[in-house]
Amino acid sequence: MDRDPGRQVCVRARPARRVPTGDDGKAATGPQILGPFARVAGLVASLAIACGPVPAQAIGSQTCAFPTSPSVLMAEGEPHAAGSKLLQMWEFDDAPVFASEAEPAGYEAFRRRAAAAVGDTDPLRPLRANPGRNNDLVARHAGAWVRPATCLQKLLQKAQDDRIDTFASPTEFMAFVLRSPDGARLRVYFYTANFDGIGRVGPAAEPAARDHAAGWTVLAGVHNHNFHPHDPTLNGAVGPSLPDAQFNLRFHAQTGMAEAWITNGLHTAQIPAAAFPLFEQTP
Ligand SMILES: [Zn+2]
Repeated sequence: MDRDPGRQVCVRARPARRVPTGDDGKAATGPQILGPFARVAGLVASLAIACGPVPAQAIGSQTCAFPTSPSVLMAEGEPHAAGSKLLQMWEFDDAPVFASEAEPAGYEAFRRRAAAAVGDTDPLRPLRANPGRNNDLVARHAGAWVRPATCLQKLLQKAQDDRIDTFASPTEFMAFVLRSPDGARLRVYFYTANFDGIGRVGPAAEPAARDHAAGWTVLAGVHNHNFHPHDPTLNGAVGPSLPDAQFNLRFHAQTGMAEAWITNGLHTAQIPAAAFPLFEQTP
């Protein structure tokens, strides 16, 4: 988490082929039953599968928006003030739009601000500008892992950007995306402390782990590495920091978390759990 720092929704590729879903080795049921996020499970078995968000034309008239208001589980302080905490949870029926590249209403303003602040938003640029084992690994696997941000990822980025303007004062969030035992619903925990870093992610990780124990599948841990136009070392590189990498490995061992998503709001690295051990961890 931290200042110095993703996940893949495989819908187009090989939808009919299934592989075991995770550590328990249980086979997943068919894609006709599970939602689009379920299909991502197959990726855990392979670093080689490249698959992307649902093409926009496949989602028809579905709107990229949370269908329900979140349940606020904890809130402290004024929402737009530094240091104010928020833990909230959405639960809704899974739908292809969330894994698509559909844009939330008003998101073009975020794109404009990003372009004005950093110019070229190619996700490889900041990865290569800040070489190191973790960014290098993401850059090498960019073809498989790095994609335009999905609808759901953009909704999460927007939730934080609505609290504090990303380009005025970048702040981080941590989220977990879970699938219900029957495969039909998604649950999303979102936590922030309105700081440029996330620190302890326990407030969101703990309920996600409890849900896992109750039969939910932890699809992804999501957090943002914002553009920092005035600090090239922190300018939207979607590679995990050492603490990120350590958390991913540990939380995968605890919950089977299938992927880590690191987004800058425009692009996201969606890193499969099979790759977690390859990253440099906190010593
Ligand atoms: Zn991070």
